[in-house]
Amino acid sequence: MTIHASTPPKLIDQFGRQVDYIRLSITDRCDFRCQYCMSEDMTFLPRDEVLSLEECARIVRAFVQLGVTKVRITGGEPLVRKNALWLFEEVGQLEGLEELVLTTNGSQLVKNASALKHAGVKRINISLDSLNAERFKQITRIGNLEQVLDGLQAAIAVGFDGIKLNTVLMRGINDDEAEDLVSFAIQHNIDISFIEEMPLGDVSHIRDSTFVSNSDTLKRLQSKHSLIASTHTSGGPARYWQVANTATKIGFISPHSHNFCESCNRVRISCKGELFLCLGQDDKVELMPLLREHPDDDTPLKEAILNSMNIKPKGHDFDLKRATPAVVRFMSHTGG
Ligand code: SAM
Ligand code: SF4
Repeated sequence: MTIHASTPPKLIDQFGRQVDYIRLSITDRCDFRCQYCMSEDMTFLPRDEVLSLEECARIVRAFVQLGVTKVRITGGEPLVRKNALWLFEEVGQLEGLEELVLTTNGSQLVKNASALKHAGVKRINISLDSLNAERFKQITRIGNLEQVLDGLQAAIAVGFDGIKLNTVLMRGINDDEAEDLVSFAIQHNIDISFIEEMPLGDVSHIRDSTFVSNSDTLKRLQSKHSLIASTHTSGGPARYWQVANTATKIGFISPHSHNFCESCNRVRISCKGELFLCLGQDDKVELMPLLREHPDDDTPLKEAILNSMNIKPKGHDFDLKRATPAVVRFMSHTGG
């Protein structure tokens, strides 16, 4: 498709789904090595293979000009990227953008929470898989629970429109903490989402051995709390339940037990500038060459983005029983 009209075309795929949400990974690096996300010894990309922050800003601007209204900055750990705040400030000012949001492990929030809010970040997702320091270290391999809890407190003090915990439960590792994590969220008047483990990247365990179904987690939580099915949507695939008489909603992101592809409204851009049309498929368009070959002209970039809608797959292809994953890239590469 070529761009002529004064009103730019929208991003609508071959199944009629409109893409109005992008997730951009600004680094593959991280200060943690979560068991379900990374292998123990990761090799990270050389710097020149990673988008510069200026290139990240160009990509986001192009998408916003094509009708995207929500941008999530993620990683790796986005806040370990040097000068990451500059990007938040640039993106926060884009005309047409309604929501700038962040997914973080929380480790760098003490020093960044206030500046992020000023840059226009509306909501933050903070990953938290355990409230037990020793277990937290086991899951993240190198993370420090106290640092994350301090980061969460800093975010609460700054007052974002929303703070949500993201939890991946793993059987035999932290699946006994679902209730405690929900109680913790209730105590802090924040939300929590349970994400089913996805087979992305070759980690040191077979996914099926640790998989916890969200339908089982829901049943367990229902035996402790009165949960009311909610029509709330955060523009993502989570299904929400309100905990009665509290400010807390519980979300379930269940790519296995509830396939959410039908209403998919998003695409992801990796830190290498690969535009992935689906988290669970390999279909992609390389944006970096377009940026570098046309430093002053966004037209080729926008045309490539528009044309990518023709190859957005109908749905993911996750199979937990495979010894090697169908999608070999890690979540930290694609951006969760
Ligand atoms: N470092 C940040 C963090 O941990 O929030 C942002 C990037 S991380 C890749 C984004 C989200 O993806 C986190 O909530 C993490 O728990 C989740 N995640 C990573 N690998 C996953 C996997 N294999 N299955 C399900 N969720 C995963
Ligand atoms: Fe890092 Fe987030 Fe992956 Fe954990 S889930 S290793 S914090 S990128």
